[in-house]
Amino acid sequence: MKIFKFGGASVKDADGVKNIGKILADHNAEKLLVVISAMGKSTNHLEKLVHACVYGTGETNALLMELKDYHYSIIHGLEKTNSSAMVNDIENIFLELECLVETPATPEEYDFVYDQVVAFGELISTKIVSHYLLTEGFKNQWIDSRNFIITDNRYRDARIQWDETEKIISNKLKPLAEKQTVITQGFIGRGPVNETTTLGREGSDYSAAIFAYCLNAESVTIWKDVAGVMNADPKKMDNASLISNLGYSDAIELAYYGASVIHPKTIQPLMAKNIPLYVKSFINPTELGTQVSNQNHVLDLPCYIFKENQVLAELKTRDFTFIVEQNLEQIFSLLAQHKIRCNIIQNSAISFSFVADNKENKLTNLISDLEKLGLSVQITESLELITIYNAVEGSKKTVLGIKEIILEQNTGNTSHYLVR
Ligand code: ASP
Ligand code: MG
Repeated sequence: MKIFKFGGASVKDADGVKNIGKILADHNAEKLLVVISAMGKSTNHLEKLVHACVYGTGETNALLMELKDYHYSIIHGLEKTNSSAMVNDIENIFLELECLVETPATPEEYDFVYDQVVAFGELISTKIVSHYLLTEGFKNQWIDSRNFIITDNRYRDARIQWDETEKIISNKLKPLAEKQTVITQGFIGRGPVNETTTLGREGSDYSAAIFAYCLNAESVTIWKDVAGVMNADPKKMDNASLISNLGYSDAIELAYYGASVIHPKTIQPLMAKNIPLYVKSFINPTELGTQVSNQNHVLDLPCYIFKENQVLAELKTRDFTFIVEQNLEQIFSLLAQHKIRCNIIQNSAISFSFVADNKENKLTNLISDLEKLGLSVQITESLELITIYNAVEGSKKTVLGIKEIILEQNTGNTSHYLVR
């Protein structure tokens, strides 16, 4: 069995959905489980809806209407697919979403509400694609991945309960997937009280890897709008080149530092079972793309990773005493509690600094808790983190140019530069 994953960009319009139909038809003879993300930018849109609903901004209805219009325009673009089954299903799902966002919610419940609401992007997109394929004569079975991806209740960043997930996938899903193509959602799972959970933004790659691991799949293919894994984001660097073969560990490093082509958690489950990962272009599906596997490939290119919207937090004790183990213990436990992942940490005698993604709603609460510990917190926003992996001579100059370096860190063959 093979696992295919299509991201939001591949289903951003009706032509995208039709293109998936063509790619799947080319693989008609294979046993496939297909993981699909929310269409286009609808996850961002749903995030706005969560905000509107939790803070009662009065925009809920307008945002819902926009979301509906967007999806219905895709449905209408699929011509004969205005099948009543499809329209019924989609109307029902929207009705459910409407009822959900009308339920009063408080800012304290933000992460929980987020998961319940944002999951609809994936539910809608997979329904549309599944129905479209059926009307095209491509037999498939839509399944709700929340029945199989079992998680804890760390909302917005849920952890997989591997034993349960593996058991239910091999007992219940495997027999089904052996018989016909399965269409399912990435990114979403089920928590301890049957609530919806999500695996973190861009988490659909990870879902594909989880299914692959539990089904002992032959391979995973992530279909992207780029040729494969490049040594830099081609939107940022003109001469970015394709990496045809990549070892698992290089792929983990690159993904971890923010190479957005692969979600960081994706590789480990695949590596554990030696399942190769292909990253291929849905625009040119016959091109080879990148193969990530255990074959020992020497990565002979420098890789450049750009992460925007970074924030630097510098913590000091108010009485100018040293930052000691006890402070660090408290700081790290607050970071964990607020689910902030540090991209860089650095400490000196009197200060502790960390760099993190600037995520709505997370940092403000953390800062106020840090201040309660008697620490002063200085924040610098709108920074960019540039990572050079496997640098060669001249790499630094190429990417940094005249940018002001705020913080620099070097470990092994990786260098990080926080720049303004
Ligand atoms: N739809 C989710 C997101 O945009 C998950 C994914 O696409 O992987 O983050
Ligand atoms: Mg996406």
